[in-house]
Amino acid sequence: MRAQPKASHFINGEFVEDTSGRPLDVLYPATGEVIARLHGATPAIIKQAAQAAAAAQGAWAALKPVERGRILRRAADLLRARNAEVARLETLDTGKAIQETLVADPASAADALEYYGGVISGFNGEMIELGGAYAYTRREALGVCVGIGAWNYPIQGAGWKSAPALAMGNAMIFKPSENTPLSTLALAEIYKEAGLPDGLFNVVQGFGDVGAALVDHPLVAKVSLTGSVPTGKKVLAQAGSHMKHATMELGGKSPLIVFDDADVEDAVGGAMLGNFYSTGQVCSNGTRVFLQSGIRQRFLDRLIERTRAIRLGDPLDPATHLGPLINNAQRDKVMSYIDKGKAEGARLSCGGGQPKLQGFEGGAYVEPTIFTDVTDDMTIAREEIFGPVMAVLDFAEEDEVIRRANDTEFGLSAGVFTRDLARAHRVISQIKAGSCWINTYNLAPAEVPFGGFKQSGVGRENGLAALSHYSQIKSVYVETGKVESPY
Ligand code: NAD
Repeated sequence: MRAQPKASHFINGEFVEDTSGRPLDVLYPATGEVIARLHGATPAIIKQAAQAAAAAQGAWAALKPVERGRILRRAADLLRARNAEVARLETLDTGKAIQETLVADPASAADALEYYGGVISGFNGEMIELGGAYAYTRREALGVCVGIGAWNYPIQGAGWKSAPALAMGNAMIFKPSENTPLSTLALAEIYKEAGLPDGLFNVVQGFGDVGAALVDHPLVAKVSLTGSVPTGKKVLAQAGSHMKHATMELGGKSPLIVFDDADVEDAVGGAMLGNFYSTGQVCSNGTRVFLQSGIRQRFLDRLIERTRAIRLGDPLDPATHLGPLINNAQRDKVMSYIDKGKAEGARLSCGGGQPKLQGFEGGAYVEPTIFTDVTDDMTIAREEIFGPVMAVLDFAEEDEVIRRANDTEFGLSAGVFTRDLARAHRVISQIKAGSCWINTYNLAPAEVPFGGFKQSGVGRENGLAALSHYSQIKSVYVETGKVESPY
């Protein structure tokens, strides 16, 4: 299986190679075979990207917003037209099942391009009456923005960051995760075909050092990172040392609360989606599932029955539900959490194994796993696992579950399942998390701001909120009378 791109990087409208950069082999997570060989960016590549982006940005920002939007909407159409091909590439890059990538990954990126292509012309400053005088505000682009991606949603991440950045009149340099460098190059080609002027969307590959060099570059005004909390702290501090703008989309250990009166099938479906989709590698997953005592047994019976029916297998087979994890290191990390769960006294109610699938013996597979009788202090209830491992906790009272749900350093997401809508709103209003759901889980449409409280992040992606984070406000005071001066 080969998925070799024309070159490692895409700068100023062209594929660019520099073989003196650190070798970067791309593995197909289902087999472990090398599907592409790339190189991380050298200082010369980073300089070339920064200069191309800075040179192109001014003229782009000077276009009418509706003209910028038109190019983004054309790119959305082209991406949708290439959905099957890009979804396949995403499956090779990530190992995620093709039945997911066909509906979720390029589609979500295309939604962001379409949304920002439409709303940008209505995103304006304000006019402020000051009694005779007045002031107005302008929303101005920041300049060159850097996007740094995680490996679980590569093209979605590139779309979610580049669409609002470009719509607002910025240029972007995107560094995909070193694990999943391929699909972002396809997005770069699509932007070019859609008519995006050269230099506005550049892709440079590399490991963390390349990300750090981009954040440090004097021509760069902003960084938007998706990644883990430790990386986020480093990147935010580094951006802060240069007084640069920063958006951080980080990890979580989110609560999903199921009250006695919930619809069992919906709640089970929500909990499965919120733990096993993308083989559990989703930042907003509801990995602490709190069950009220009256629904506990009915919920667990159906959960275990439905989880046992999940099909692991060949990611390219449309019948496969779950592919492997991104690589063996991640599989080992997830397995060590499963061991900790057992050692600390949680009950392993489903899964927990490392299956060897015929033809995919080199794949980083882990069974969808359910621990019950989990308590708040256990490691599997406190740390982000980033794999298909659900921790089920029990509760009795509303006040109790709110307190326990909030007892975490994270604050990305939360979900509540109940037929009592007054209770749903009451509970959600007291949960300290940025992206919440009532009677569903893990939907993230482009129109809705997405991001975390506490250690889960700073700033927001999606919605009009993201346009604020890719712009700065200029206030202009306009005097219509005489200048009063005591001098
Ligand atoms: P990671 O933190 O290891 O890496 C993320 C990106 O940062 C990679 O591109 C990496 O090369 C880069 N990087 C690493 N060190 C850097 C540095 N010092 N300076 C600049 N860039 C650096 O994360 P990952 O393992 O790729 O992804 C998994 C994590 O991402 C999980 O914690 C998950 O919850 C989180 N995540 C969050 C969201 C969200 O929207 N909140 C979405 C997806 C994933």
